[in-house]
Amino acid sequence: MKKQFAVIGLGRFGGNLVQELAHLNVEVLAIDIHHDVVQKFQDIATHAVQANAMDESVLKSLGLRNFDHVIVSFGENIEASILTTLQLKEIGVKEVWVKASNAYHQKVLDRIGADKVIHPERDMARRIAHHITSEKIIDYIEVSKEHSIVEVLATKKVSGKTLMDLDVRAKYGCNIIAIHRGEEVIVSPSADEVIQKEDLLIVIGHNRDINRFEKEGV
Ligand code: ADP
Repeated sequence: MKKQFAVIGLGRFGGNLVQELAHLNVEVLAIDIHHDVVQKFQDIATHAVQANAMDESVLKSLGLRNFDHVIVSFGENIEASILTTLQLKEIGVKEVWVKASNAYHQKVLDRIGADKVIHPERDMARRIAHHITSEKIIDYIEVSKEHSIVEVLATKKVSGKTLMDLDVRAKYGCNIIAIHRGEEVIVSPSADEVIQKEDLLIVIGHNRDINRFEKEGV
């Protein structure tokens, strides 16, 4: 059965999320308290509804308990975000993801059972910081506090070498899980794969190990 998504709060983040889900041909219910905002999503979302999500009876009447995944994005309206999250969990929504505005908000959301707390500005800032402080790091995704996936540019130093020559796992403790070469992506490359200049090596591991690999190994 197709997964059912709902996005509540159609501001900058929620609005973009609805657009992307619609591009992916995913069915999405879009909810906002403001009529004019809802209007803009009438032709984009599968359904766009004006409602105050803080009201439990509204959440019930919209049938949100049957949705697999609900994302709450209320910007600075922390009170609304907390109340809505609480109610969505109470009516039994399996996955409730919530955008947090600050660390305090995040703490409360974690306590009341949000399944994932999203920090788009902070996460994007981290990705960009990694990108601009290293000429080799092209992209960065945090997997946990200590682990990440990083896209590292292969320099002249390693081009022509095989993955076996690099021996990244033994020397640095991290793993090359894919190679991005032009339009092609080589997933789980074999040990005899020859690295070419300008390849993007997708590496997963502990931040400390990735750092060492990026500085000394590539
Ligand atoms: P963000 O910065 O998270 O992208 P914005 O502040 O740009 O968020 O937008 C938040 C949206 O959430 C606004 O469109 C606002 O109308 C909507 N909103 C705020 N409170 C409620 C509520 N109680 N129920 C439904 N929508 C709400």
